[in-house]
Amino acid sequence: MDTVIIKINDERVEVPNDFTILQAAKKMGIDIPTLCYDERLESHAACRMCVVEVEGARNLQTSCSLKVADGMEIKTHSERVIQARKDILDLLWANHPNDCLTCEKSGECKLQEYCYKYDVKETTFEGKRKNYEIDDSSPFFYNNQNKCINCGKCVRVCSELQHTNAIGFSERGFNTHVSTPFEIGIDNSVCVSCGNCVSVCPVGALMPKSKEKFRLWETKKVRTTCSYCGVGCQMDLLVKDNKVVGVQPANGPSNNGLLCVKGKFGFNFINHPDRLNKPLIKKDGQFVESSWEEAYGLIVEKVNNIKSEKGSEVFAGFTSARCTNEENYLFQKLFRAGIGTNSVDHCARL
Ligand code: SF4
Ligand code: SF4
Ligand code: SF4
Repeated sequence: MDTVIIKINDERVEVPNDFTILQAAKKMGIDIPTLCYDERLESHAACRMCVVEVEGARNLQTSCSLKVADGMEIKTHSERVIQARKDILDLLWANHPNDCLTCEKSGECKLQEYCYKYDVKETTFEGKRKNYEIDDSSPFFYNNQNKCINCGKCVRVCSELQHTNAIGFSERGFNTHVSTPFEIGIDNSVCVSCGNCVSVCPVGALMPKSKEKFRLWETKKVRTTCSYCGVGCQMDLLVKDNKVVGVQPANGPSNNGLLCVKGKFGFNFINHPDRLNKPLIKKDGQFVESSWEEAYGLIVEKVNNIKSEKGSEVFAGFTSARCTNEENYLFQKLFRAGIGTNSVDHCARL
């Protein structure tokens, strides 16, 4: 791997020559703000929040798109850079509803976070504001374009990673907004409701409908594997007061930070009052709640009785694609090594 030596904020660093300035800064632990950047997507350089000063360059440069070069000297937080970032936030705030107090995104919104960090309290620009009808046609999420900052992440995720191309930018200039072709509404489009656009939206423009009332800081993140199929997508459950209130995709080897509709939105069953969470044993024709110890004891007793009467080969095990690979491994081990039969199958082998 070829490397180059650059200086960031007067500190020398050696980095691979195909790194962008943003990647090099990250390697050094320097946080450059971004709104439109996502390492999984082609660089877009649209929001301009990541601008830096590069010695010898006339204009500020977007660090997410500019590759490093040997001898480059970069300033990531100079006065000029900070003023440019403030101006961008000022412009974004000029056309944004000032309702953080009741906005569901408050506490996890990048625009809010950066306005706080860069001390932008109000806009210095006056003028027309967006006034779009909220598209609530999707059963799973809202599209409120009055809060959109045109970062394009939703459009690019839908096209580059999800490969559905359900949404794009409509119109141009001041009227640029994210929509379905011909404004037919999400529910009438080819959208598959994966919610990956919702997960990447840095502001409150795309928000889940299933959202319980919570602030992110009130929740605990619990990393887990999606239980819907065998792909094994990694996700973080957002848990408030012992109740799952939301799901965020995590970056696992099989899902690269993406989920499908089931993983992203199908979590209400977890808290559903009809859900069985204790074993039932049929006694005198009626199902009666029991302890796990009693249920397992009964299973072991019955298996042992049948095995001694009729042998191991009368058993067959049938497992589920909704278990993890590890669980399925243990299941076949139980049947082969424990019970003594090779008759093990799986519901996905249709
Ligand atoms: S999207 Fe962000 S900045 Fe806009 S109102 Fe909501 S929390 Fe505030
Ligand atoms: S939910 Fe999925 S398919 Fe639908 S617009 Fe968003 S990313 Fe595209
Ligand atoms: S809806 Fe969200 S993700 Fe899409 S362009 Fe607007 S701000 Fe960006």
